[in-house]
This record gives sequence, structure tokens and C-alpha cells, in this order.
Amino acid sequence: MLKKLFQTLRSPLRRVRPARPTPQVLAASQHNLHREQISRNAVGVVERLQQAGYQAYLVGGCVRDLLLGITPKDFDVATSATPEQVRAEFRNARIIGRRFKLAHVHFGREIIEVATFRAHHPADEEQEDNNQSARHESGRILRDNVYGSQEDDAQRRDFTINALYYDPHNERVLDYAHGVHDIRNREVRLIGDPTQRYLEDPVRMLRAIRFAAKLDFAIEPHSAEPIRRLARQLNDIPAARLFDEVIKLLLSGQGLRTFELLCEYELFAPLFPATAAALKADPDYAGRLIRQALINTDERIRIGKPVTPAFLFAALLWPALPARAAALQAHGLPALAALQEAAHELISEQCRRTAVPKRFTLPLREIWDMQERLPRRQGKRADLLLENPRFRAGYDFLLLRESAGEVTGGLGDWWTRYQEISDSERRQMIRALGSGEGKPARKRRRAPRKRPAPADGGQD
Ligand code: ATP
Ligand code: MG
Repeated sequence: MLKKLFQTLRSPLRRVRPARPTPQVLAASQHNLHREQISRNAVGVVERLQQAGYQAYLVGGCVRDLLLGITPKDFDVATSATPEQVRAEFRNARIIGRRFKLAHVHFGREIIEVATFRAHHPADEEQEDNNQSARHESGRILRDNVYGSQEDDAQRRDFTINALYYDPHNERVLDYAHGVHDIRNREVRLIGDPTQRYLEDPVRMLRAIRFAAKLDFAIEPHSAEPIRRLARQLNDIPAARLFDEVIKLLLSGQGLRTFELLCEYELFAPLFPATAAALKADPDYAGRLIRQALINTDERIRIGKPVTPAFLFAALLWPALPARAAALQAHGLPALAALQEAAHELISEQCRRTAVPKRFTLPLREIWDMQERLPRRQGKRADLLLENPRFRAGYDFLLLRESAGEVTGGLGDWWTRYQEISDSERRQMIRALGSGEGKPARKRRRAPRKRPAPADGGQD
């Protein structure tokens, strides 16, 4: 069906394509998108707005994904109604956002995001109305509430593939920016001048990577070219927005491919400076650990298991920990205190880049603390650890470290076996550790015991 659609379209291959004053209209027979594939609530919102006399369409990712045969993750609506007018139509609507004001219409757990058609900002700063529009001297748009026509709205969207509108009433797709052409060619292409569009909103660089990875598209060369040069612009983006973006980048099922692209386009360092430094210092170990964490995460998402930012951030920051702790030790802190302080510093620094909420930094610390505790298994310690709600994450993290080549003296295997066996066998395993093994180093002075060095890396 998609093939048929594409055959019906002309394919201008010029790079700079003039904006279409009137859209290319694809009738129902020319595309493979069906009304039934769309959330009923979203269709309901569009119909209600249309009945009230407004223009309203499904827009953005849902149209793009459905044309590609992908199930959309959510449904966005674009309308000529202002957020206040949307709220007046729906009892279950709330207005959110200051930088970008829009209405959320709530249906139980489903939220339909309804955005008012927007226009580009006036080129002449004098004309800017500070209530609606504000721009930083770099060109960054600080407030984006200048309303406009549907055509204006299409031109100020980020990528051509995201500027497609679907009307569920007549089942037509409206294409103002040659988005269907780029879907066919599997290309992520910014609308307008790439440098200017990235300066207006540097997060678009991350979005380019995200869509390229998610859809397995190439980034069109002119849209790719400015990214490395402008990567540092991300430093000026609020940390809370970057955290949200990092989650979408790395926890959407294409984490590994996204990571490779972020590194390729030099966007990883502005997001994770300490990790980037660790990757530079020890690319083999740090690279293996991070890639393996992302492979595991992608696999969990594929099979429908839950994933948490706490584990991912624990893995991303872990390679930066030893150097930081060593520096503090060199300043005279004892080993354990240095490690604790290094962990604290690293997490706070990372939060200044990507504001990781407390509900994730607390378990992150627990996963790391667990790495200190897992080797100490004497007496009742092993059983207490096993009952710890964070045990599973700590154990998984230990296996991850081992898979990246960290030497732990067979600790992962020991814990794997310990979980599988009976109580009496567990007692035997603990006894087999011997009295010295697994206990924290004591400061008490004691004559060294005379015994041959163990051959199996420390386990006896
Ligand atoms: P997905 O929901 O699959 O992540 P999406 O394309 O729907 O992808 P959203 O973040 O939901 O992405 O945004 C909805 C639409 O709003 C986009 O398709 C795009 O048209 C527009 N948009 C979002 N963010 C920006 C931005 N920073 N600059 C310009 N347009 C944007
Ligand atoms: Mg969306």
C-alpha cells in the first residue's frame, strides 16, 4: 500500500525545496493510514473541535509512524483553537507549559496533547511581544506562543517527516513540507535553514538523532552538517528538559544505536561530561560497560520488561567513579570515604546537566552501595542482602561490570548459585568462604595467618 502511495507521488530531489503555500493532499486511497488505527480519544478530540468550528488534525509522530507501519506511542493534535478555547470545549482539559503553552485532554491514563497552530517569530525583535515570544541573543527561542495559520504551523515544526497532518473526518493527509517524500527516502530533514533551526532550539539536534535511531533513517547531509559545530549549544538548555530528552533517547528501545549516533555527532559529551572523559581515558572498558548496559536495556524493552533510569544512569556514570575517587584519595581521604564522596560529586554534577529526579538518584546510590556490600557475605550478611529490595538491581549491575571485564573473583557466579540453592547448601557456601573471605578489611592489628595463596582468584 505504501508502495502504491509512493508511486503516485512526484519526487523532487532538489535540496532546498520551497515551502508549499498549499499542501499536497493525499486522499484516503493514496495512503495506508486508517482511522481505526488511531486512538478513539484522539479522534474524538479532533471531531469535537471541528464541530465547534475550529480546524483540527492529528499531527506529528503519530502520522509519521502510522505511514511507516509503526504503532505510535502517543497522539498529538494541532488546532486553530487557542489553549483557552480548547479548555472551554473539554471539561477534562488542562493548560500546561509556559515556554510552549498547550492543552492536555485527559482520558484516564491517556493524555491527548492539543497544540495551537504556531507561526515563526517576527524577524524584527522590536515587533516581539514578550508575552508570546522571547528569544535569546543566540537565536534560541525562549517562549514560543505566537499563533498562526496551519501553513505557518507546518513551517515551524522541526522535521519534514513531522509536519504531516491527518484529518480523520475525510481521511486525508496534508503534506506541506515534502515529508512523505522524505519518509520514502528514509531521511530526517530539518525544515528551513538547519543552523538557524538548531540555534532556535538546540534540542532539535537530539531529536534528529532520536528519530534517525528510532526509524533507522539517515540524517540528510545538510541537516547533519552543523550538529558537531553547534553541539555545545546544549549547555544552555535547562537540565530538566535535557533529562526528559535523555530518557526518550536511551530508554525507547534503540539505546545502543542512539548512543553510537550521539558519540558520532559529539552530542554525548555535553550530556554526560564525566562519562565522556572516562570513555576517552579507557575506551575499551567504559565502552563495553555502557554498550552492554544499553544492549540489556533494549532487550528488556523488546520483551516488555520494565526499565529504570536509575539503573541506566548507574551504568553510565560508573566508569567515571574510580578516577574521581582516586583524586580524592590523593587529597588524603580514606578509600571508602573517597568513594562515597566521589559518588556524591558525580551525581550532583550530572544533575546540573540532566536533572535526574531524586526518585532515581536514591536507587542509583543504592545500586552503587550494593557493589561494596556484595563481596561481604559472611554470617547473615548474604541472606540480609538477598532480602534487600535493591538486591536484584545490585546483582544485575555486578554481572554487567563483570561482562565489561571487571575482575570480581567469581562474585557474580557465587551469587547466581546462592540464589538457586537450598538453605542448607547456602550454609555450606558461607562456611566455604572461610573466616577471612568477604569480611571488610579491619584495622585491628593481627599476625598474618600463614596459608598458601588461593589459586582461584581469592575464593577458598
Ligand atoms: P514521538 O512522540 O514518537 O517521540 P513526535 O514527533 O510525536 O515523536 P513529540 O515530541 O511528541 O514528537 O512532538 C510532536 C510534534 O511536535 C513533532 O512531531 C513536531 O512536529 C513538533 N515538535 C516537537 N518538538 C519540536 C521542536 N523542538 N521544534 C519544532 N517542532 C517540534
Ligand atoms: Mg508524539
